[in-house]
Amino acid sequence: LPVKPPSSPSFSLQAKMSRLAQARRLEGVDKNIWVDFVKLAATYSKVNLGQGFPDFPPPDFLMEAFGRAVSGEMHMLHQYTRAFGHPPLVKILAQLFGKLLGRGLDPMTNVMVTVGAYQALFCCFQAFIDEGDEVIIIEPFFDCYEPMVKMAGGTPVYVPLRPKAPKEGKLMLSADWQLDPAELASKFSERTKAIVLNSPNNPLGKVFSREELELIADLCVKHDTLCFSDEVYEWLVYDGKEHIRIASLPGMWDRTVTIGSAGKTFSVTGWKVGWTVGPNELLQHLRTVHQNSVYHCATAAQEAVAQGFQRELEHYGKPDSYFVRLPRELQQKRDQLVQSLVAVGMKPIVPEGTYFLVADISKFKSEVPDVPNSDEPYDSRFAKWMVKNKGLAAIPLSAFYCGAHKDNYNSFIRFCFAKEDATLKAADNILQKWKLEKTAP
Ligand code: PMP
Repeated sequence: LPVKPPSSPSFSLQAKMSRLAQARRLEGVDKNIWVDFVKLAATYSKVNLGQGFPDFPPPDFLMEAFGRAVSGEMHMLHQYTRAFGHPPLVKILAQLFGKLLGRGLDPMTNVMVTVGAYQALFCCFQAFIDEGDEVIIIEPFFDCYEPMVKMAGGTPVYVPLRPKAPKEGKLMLSADWQLDPAELASKFSERTKAIVLNSPNNPLGKVFSREELELIADLCVKHDTLCFSDEVYEWLVYDGKEHIRIASLPGMWDRTVTIGSAGKTFSVTGWKVGWTVGPNELLQHLRTVHQNSVYHCATAAQEAVAQGFQRELEHYGKPDSYFVRLPRELQQKRDQLVQSLVAVGMKPIVPEGTYFLVADISKFKSEVPDVPNSDEPYDSRFAKWMVKNKGLAAIPLSAFYCGAHKDNYNSFIRFCFAKEDATLKAADNILQKWKLEKTAP
């Protein structure tokens, strides 16, 4: 066929259209649950227990540190600092994590500061995942792992935590959701480049036990697999549970990137300061991604976080340490929300970590209008109905599953309880009123 000359209008239109087309790596990753649910919450909610952020202030010592950092006393804090992390911050992180992991860390090579844990994750996938590589993701999972793996050209391989029935008359615990060891082992192969671990887990609040971590570690060593360990909720553990760092298990330091977040550690999600800790052999590649994308994170916020850690190191393990105080307060808030949800007839799964709580809503099916032939999972329809009709915002659990598994886990919603007591009281009022309406003749 003769080629149309470039002057033809249809030819130039076509050419322009194809220039507007997305890059292949964006195919199928354009939807984002938070965009939809944050908008719904902003429009309808009276009480927002949806997106995960505290509505109480950060600790005074941290806000004061930020104030000092921007006060002008040290005006160079308004300028660029070291690309891979402001020196005072990487030094204190190396000191703290050296202590926690039981090994000497070099601040310059074993630590890198990122724009929140989100960018740390992005660096991991970009640095290590190639076309054809598989990455094991444990479900339910913090939703960004999936698009990040895909954008890097990798293939996510999912393995669900499987719930065990609780003891008669007891509430289910997040610990009742467990990996099936044989199923997990079956997901590893020579194509497996990495596994993403998130303990304590968002959304369930599960804190992986030493045995569970050893199971994962053994498979990583056996199959020579990397581990991206998202530990942003490391300080938020309850009921005397212990957070165990997988990098501290035999054979794991050399293959693990540990990820943390000041947003969760100090209740400052808006500052977007995160970090990675690991061996130089791995971190050198994260630095390559970082220097060629973000390059640098806000200096003043890094300075304030460094001072926050300095203060915490001085108060380590003492009752006035924020790392002791925050989980103590959050555990009470968790228990308050558990009671409110039980009252309305939801079945909370009591979390042992994080500030999230997942509740079973299968008893509410009759309240939510059925949409024939809808491929939207029940929990998603329920969460939309609840915010519009009751003014209470939460997030459907199916959002934390891959497409093929959403329908297996579609009768739960996730609440965030890192909220002022007044906010939790307002949620309780909504739930109590709802209960009365349900029981009214
Ligand atoms: N990982 C998990 C499991 C999270 O829940 C979040 C935030 N919700 C992040 C990473 C991102 O953390 P940051 O805000 O520090 O980017």
